[in-house]
Amino acid sequence: MTGQPRRLVVFSGSGISADSGLDTFRTSGGESLWAQYDPEIVCNYDCWEENFALVHDFYSRRREELGTVVPNKAHRLVVDWEKRYSAELITQNVDDLFERAGARYVMHVHGFLSAMRCVSCGAQWLFGYRRFSPATDCCPRCGRLESVKPNVVFFNEPAPRYAEMWRSLGSLTRDDVLVAIGTAGLVLPIGEIARNCPATTVLSNLESAESPRDEDFDRVLHGRAAEIAPHLDALVSELMER
Ligand SMILES: [Zn+2]
Repeated sequence: MTGQPRRLVVFSGSGISADSGLDTFRTSGGESLWAQYDPEIVCNYDCWEENFALVHDFYSRRREELGTVVPNKAHRLVVDWEKRYSAELITQNVDDLFERAGARYVMHVHGFLSAMRCVSCGAQWLFGYRRFSPATDCCPRCGRLESVKPNVVFFNEPAPRYAEMWRSLGSLTRDDVLVAIGTAGLVLPIGEIARNCPATTVLSNLESAESPRDEDFDRVLHGRAAEIAPHLDALVSELMER
């Protein structure tokens, strides 16, 4: 150990919220919202303004769905690490389940579902879980309606938090611990990140074809995040308290 406290960075993806009942883009079945809309249309920065009503309908329904689910054991475990080890929470998830489990700060690198952003003036505001209404939901700062967009990073849209994320991941040392939970590694290549990271790396994922390769990580736990939370806690506690 150097004089610095050991850092714990937790990088999470949709698998952790799937255990709360939130459908994910890649695992969605026929009943899922994702199967009822074309993501290339409703999540595409290049054409969202042309599809304004459809985009807002899709995100309104996702917010309503989010309002019906609750954090699970895995969210609560990660938030407990934030308290115990000052863990840094980086998530690709746009839901607020870490916040509802009590997290102080979560770096949402792909945006936040229950918020809006005005692409014209840059205003951002919390919106809750309700439906968007064109009659009343113009930008509170500039008054425009057509520039009000769900505050979620779409395909073909810059992700402003990536710089902060790369700083956090890039400054890990061999004394530190990086835990990846519930991420397929398809959007952000967590396997490659782990392979090149000097920290002790842990993967907690379902065993599936869409998982990063086990051999890219030092330690691996397979299973549903909420179910294996006690084992994951034991492993991370051991690594943090070495
Ligand atoms: Zn505005």
